[in-house]
Amino acid sequence: MKDTYRNIVELMDPPPYHWVGDGFRVHNFFPALPAIGLDGMSPFFLMDYGARHYFPPSSKPRGVGVHPHRGIETVTISYQGRVAHHDSSGNSGVIGEGDVQWMTAGGGVLHKEYHEEEFNRKGGHFQMVQLWVNLPAKYKMTPAKYQAIENGKMGKYLSDDGKSSADIIAGEFKGVKGPAFTFSPVNLFNFRMLKEAEEILSFPETYNAGILVPEGGIIVNDSAEVSENQFVYFGHRGKDIKVKAQSNCIILVMSGAPLNEPIAPHGPFVMNTKEEIQQAYEDYYNGKFGYLED
Ligand code: MN
Repeated sequence: MKDTYRNIVELMDPPPYHWVGDGFRVHNFFPALPAIGLDGMSPFFLMDYGARHYFPPSSKPRGVGVHPHRGIETVTISYQGRVAHHDSSGNSGVIGEGDVQWMTAGGGVLHKEYHEEEFNRKGGHFQMVQLWVNLPAKYKMTPAKYQAIENGKMGKYLSDDGKSSADIIAGEFKGVKGPAFTFSPVNLFNFRMLKEAEEILSFPETYNAGILVPEGGIIVNDSAEVSENQFVYFGHRGKDIKVKAQSNCIILVMSGAPLNEPIAPHGPFVMNTKEEIQQAYEDYYNGKFGYLED
C-alpha cells in the first residue's frame, strides 16, 4: 500500500556546479541544500556529484593538489573515468568505473586527487561521486587508513528475475554484505536496473536515506519520478522505499544511522566544536598531518 512507503521530503535538482581544483566539476547536494543542511543525511556530511562531463585530452594534470582532512572519511565512487589518489600515510590507488576508494582521514591526513595520467592524456567522459562520511566523536582522531574497494571485492546482489543487480559497498542488502569497514552503521549500494525492474529497499525509520540517479530514471513509491542527476531525500516515516526503473538505470542508495552529535565544519575539517577546528588548523600548520609531495 502506497501510504506505507517512507515519506519523501524533497526531490532535488542538482545545484549549480562548482570546480574543486580543475578536475572535479561538482554539484554539492549537501550540506549546501537547506532541506538537508549539516546533519540531515548524517553520518553522510557532504555529497559532491560530478555529473557526466567530457574532458578533452590534456597534457597538464587535472585535479586537486595537496590538502588536509580531519574528522571524516572521504569516499570516492567512479562511474566513468579514472581517479588517482595519494596520501601522506603512504597510500595510493587508482579507481576506474565501478570502483570505490574509502579514505579515513581520522586524526589527520594530507591527500591529493587527480585524473589518472592516461585518462587525462586521452580525455573522456568523467562521472563520479565524493561523499564525506562524518566520524563519531570518539573516532575523530582515529589513525588515518585507506580501503581500496575494487568492484570485484564488493558484495554482489542479483534479483531473482535477473532484472536488477547491485554492488554492495557498505552495509547489507538482503543478506549480501559490503566489504567497507565503517565506524557507524552505513549502507551504500550501487544498483543497476533494467527498465521495469522493481526493488524494495528497507531501512530502520531512524536512519537517514537518499537516492541519487547517475543514469536513467526511476519512479519512487509509485508516485515520484526521479530523473537523471536528481537526488531524492527521504523522511523518517515508514521503512520501505519502492524503486521502479523507468529506463535502464544506475542508482546510488545511501542510508545510515544519524550520529546525533554537534557538528563544527570548517573547510576540509569536520569536528564537534570550534575549539577542535582551531586545533586542527594549528596542528596542520605545525606539520602534524605529515608530508606529501605536490
Ligand atoms: Mn580531499
